[in-house]
Amino acid sequence: MPGSSVLFDTYARFPVRIVRGEGAYVVDAAGRRYLDFTSGIAVLSLGHVPPAVKKRLEAQLEALWHTSNLFESPHQEAVAERLVRLSFADRVLFVNSGTEANEAAIKLVRRYARKVRGLDGGTIVAFHRSFHGRTMGALSATGQPAHWDGFEPMLPGFRFLPYNDPAALEAIDGTTIAVMLELAQGEGGVTPADPAWVQALVERSRAQGALVIVDEVQTGIGRTGTLFAYEQYGFEPDVMTLAKGLGAGVPVGALLAREAVAAVFGPGTHGSTFGGNPLAMAAAEAVLDVVADPAFLARVREAATRLRRGLDAIAGRHAGLEVRGLGLLLGLGLSPEHFPDGARPLVDRLREAGVLVLTAGPNVVRILPPLTVGEAEIDRFLAALDAVLKERSAAGIPGSE
Ligand SMILES: *Cc1c(COP(=O)(O)O)cnc(C)c1O
Repeated sequence: MPGSSVLFDTYARFPVRIVRGEGAYVVDAAGRRYLDFTSGIAVLSLGHVPPAVKKRLEAQLEALWHTSNLFESPHQEAVAERLVRLSFADRVLFVNSGTEANEAAIKLVRRYARKVRGLDGGTIVAFHRSFHGRTMGALSATGQPAHWDGFEPMLPGFRFLPYNDPAALEAIDGTTIAVMLELAQGEGGVTPADPAWVQALVERSRAQGALVIVDEVQTGIGRTGTLFAYEQYGFEPDVMTLAKGLGAGVPVGALLAREAVAAVFGPGTHGSTFGGNPLAMAAAEAVLDVVADPAFLARVREAATRLRRGLDAIAGRHAGLEVRGLGLLLGLGLSPEHFPDGARPLVDRLREAGVLVLTAGPNVVRILPPLTVGEAEIDRFLAALDAVLKERSAAGIPGSE
């Protein structure tokens, strides 16, 4: 019950008590069924309780739950070898979440700058409206000062530039340790990076000796229609972080890097008690079995095209809407003029109509179906959205036609 919970009040939670999930649907405690286009914030790459992952987890539950990273890990090696084969990277370090992967990335590039480049100090360049996590390091790299409120002083050594602004890239210089970016900002409002800007950013970084870190915690593992979003931008990063979609709902994060960079993390430099736990590895391996298949990724792109076309058509029928995103990381930007109360009322109405979506900032509806979403589910979602917008204009909400 809202108000009676002993949980910390850190979330403005939606009043739905979800107790079961299956594929793209969830059921609440009252037995009501919802179409879930939140995917637990881009986590449930294969939908709720996917049988392939469940089977692997059950087998792992019988065999081994935990050792410690002080022992060799065939479970981690198997997943890491897959990730290396599928990406630019030579080495993988497992952690438990996105923010932890980014903490590890920050430590790694700082140590590389010091030990390999001999830089004393230096800065990590990140971007306005970025989101890299809630722990102190990742939060210090997050270009949203509202999230810093009350937690200062933030970690020194970060500098923020406007996203998608080529002129600002001149600030990347010989003292830049690394540039850290999302190829589509998720929490920051579902904004894809401009390809020409990314190309200029990578060139400038290389010329200045700065490493490029891509935070693919949300964009990775097929979410944007390729296994990793960087593949669509025609370059290879030096460091990448993953989490959300990698475990299909089992907590897992990963830091990936080229050999020369990874080499500065020797024994004792970093660690995690739970990181790369055999249960998490079983889930990640099962996810990669499915998602790394080119035919699966082709279906993700088809689903993304269908959903995007439908959203574009809706945006053509109702004023004040802007469709944006990459693959199945989609947003519906609402103009303040037509939607003075922002995205939340629309999200609430959709929920009442049996469809769950999220917001990304005050004026964006974030649409994150599972990668396995079917055509009928996409069409059902579009129909619900169209109906809610029609009902809104029929009610004569100012500017809603
Ligand atoms: C969600 C997210 C994070 C933080 O991940 P957690 O698992 O919540 O710590 C970091 N970066 C990006 C791009 C994210 O979307």
